[in-house]
Amino acid sequence: MSFDAFIGNKLAIGILKKALETRRIASAYLFHGPDGVGKSLAARNFAKALVCENEGSDSCDVCSSCRRVDSDNHPDVHWYKPVGKMRLVKMASIQELITQTGLKPFESKWKLFVLLEADRMRAESQNAVLKTLEEPPGQTVLILVSSNAAGLLPTIVSRCQEICFLPIPREEMERTIEEKWGLGAEEARLVASLASGSLGSAKRLLDRENLSRRKLLLTLLSDISHRSFREVEDTLRAMDEELGEMAKALRGKEEKRLKAQGKTMTAEERDEQMDEVNANVESIVRQEVEDILNQLAFWYRDLLIVKENASAELVTNLDMMESLRSSAAEMTVHGILSRLGAVEEARRAIGLNLSLTSCLEVFFLRGGEAAVKPS
Ligand SMILES: [Zn+2]
Repeated sequence: MSFDAFIGNKLAIGILKKALETRRIASAYLFHGPDGVGKSLAARNFAKALVCENEGSDSCDVCSSCRRVDSDNHPDVHWYKPVGKMRLVKMASIQELITQTGLKPFESKWKLFVLLEADRMRAESQNAVLKTLEEPPGQTVLILVSSNAAGLLPTIVSRCQEICFLPIPREEMERTIEEKWGLGAEEARLVASLASGSLGSAKRLLDRENLSRRKLLLTLLSDISHRSFREVEDTLRAMDEELGEMAKALRGKEEKRLKAQGKTMTAEERDEQMDEVNANVESIVRQEVEDILNQLAFWYRDLLIVKENASAELVTNLDMMESLRSSAAEMTVHGILSRLGAVEEARRAIGLNLSLTSCLEVFFLRGGEAAVKPS
């Protein structure tokens, strides 16, 4: 994909295109902003355009260089990302990066190093990167990508040209969702509203069981006062089992992919690969749990909006207006705020690596003024 097909963030893309056009390229960039708004894609496009055989302000997408960047096979474009259970960009990778920056490009005029989730570096790794940033070798471009720039040393940030990415505007989200997933206007509006300007989040809602799980959860919430403790527990368990199935399927798919590569590996290498697969699956499941908690938070935020008679334009769960109205009538503002507090308690439980069931138990049964009492 070229910059011309990029969705949202016209300003950021404009700055990058201008740099490409004038060939005034900074030695380091920091692409920062929320998840799922196209930072990594922009980094790939920028790298592609810099090594493209048809020099210009965008990639041509058809030359051999462009195609090799797209398939991660270009010798002058290097990618680094967090790995393992701790999701860290390892020191060994950074040392490799530093060695590589000392070498001339293989075939292009530029050598690019993209660090995804750059904030997932320990301080010692960040300090090592900082040394490279202080004396950048010519023709080298570092692109740090992060949705949590506060996790980077200020000295690193100050040496990078910052490119700020913002949530994608609502109308653009709706249009893209309609075109890409073939949804009707009303459904596209709901997904855009739930995804809060993140195309990545919209993709998760639409590609997985996320939308049906949300409906189940919100239906449970909307008449929680009529549900028994047992019923709530059963629903939570069913949701957890579904996530377990999803994880199992993802793991199976990855194992198949590794087998298909047909590489001969030592037992140790295979174990290492499987650890990586497990870590990846875990982080996907964690993201799902975070999405579920975000949906809970949206629900109570909507209740406050309805309760305070604020503009319906602000409501996220547009398809649940009726349930929102009846729930808001049953609850006090204090009660709603207490439930929002319980969502935050459940969020802390994800931080402790608890399962979905445990996180939701914190929310339903223990947080704030518990929503359901054990019978
Ligand atoms: Zn090209």
